[in-house]
Amino acid sequence: MSAAAAPWSVKGIDPKAREVAKDLARRSGMTLGEWLNSMIMEDEEEGYATLPRRSQAAEYERRNRSRRLDDAYEVEDSQQRISASIDVIAARLEAAERNARADPLTGLLNRRGLDDALARAVKQAQAGGQPLAVAMIDIDHFKRVNDQWGHAIGDEVLRCVATHLSTHARRLAGEAGFAARHGGEEFLVALPGLGLREACAAIDNARAVLARQVLRRADDGASLGRVSFSAGVALLRAGDTVEAIIDRADSALYAAKRAGRDRVLPERRV
Ligand code: GH3
Ligand code: MG
Ligand code: MG
Repeated sequence: MSAAAAPWSVKGIDPKAREVAKDLARRSGMTLGEWLNSMIMEDEEEGYATLPRRSQAAEYERRNRSRRLDDAYEVEDSQQRISASIDVIAARLEAAERNARADPLTGLLNRRGLDDALARAVKQAQAGGQPLAVAMIDIDHFKRVNDQWGHAIGDEVLRCVATHLSTHARRLAGEAGFAARHGGEEFLVALPGLGLREACAAIDNARAVLARQVLRRADDGASLGRVSFSAGVALLRAGDTVEAIIDRADSALYAAKRAGRDRVLPERRV
């Protein structure tokens, strides 16, 4: 509001109220006359202008105090609303980040999540001087499962293998062990703390347990036959990168496929 020429004389105001009003005017960067004028213009609709002049400044101060109190409550209220909204946004962001790293079909880490988790595992192993074994796993003749039973059953089989691998990874390497979906019917299992021979034996055990089971359709219990996988296992080397260790495990996997599938092979030693 612009402070036009004051229609109010400030002479008749009670000295105490005048001091209060002067102080408020000073804080607003106005002269007393300008300030009274602007306040009265603001308050005219509320009947302020009809008050006896002497009590105008005191009345304004009373109203102003309660208005400041209301403003303070409003500020506190909106601060609470803002921090509640920030909490909701932060939770949504965290969930979105988690989802961006999760494979929707199996719930395992997806390729992106895998890259991050494996990079962390490599760093930790290198810093702690601990071994880290990585297995690349590919379901054998999975195309046949889809062809014979349909894509939906194929998806169920993928979920089943994913749970199997994830359970084994945790059992073998504790909280630090994890399984991830590398893509399609290929998985990666990271086993921090395990050496090459130990990891090969552990993954081979997971393979044998799965291959022994007859998978059954959930609705009618019809047999879907058995599912096996082939795997290649590599061990972290000094100065290794995530890509290098995956590549070596992948080469061992393809050697396992060429050798007849349903088996686990270690990387070739140099
Ligand atoms: P191999 O033993 O040589 O690995 O044979 P394979 O049949 O497993 O390999 P191939 O690469 O010929 O086929 C892989 C199949 O996996 C083909 C593809 O349709 C299927 N597949 C990939 N992703 C999914 C998926 O998310 N759901 C289903 N149901 N099938 C998938
Ligand atoms: Mg494949
Ligand atoms: Mg396959």
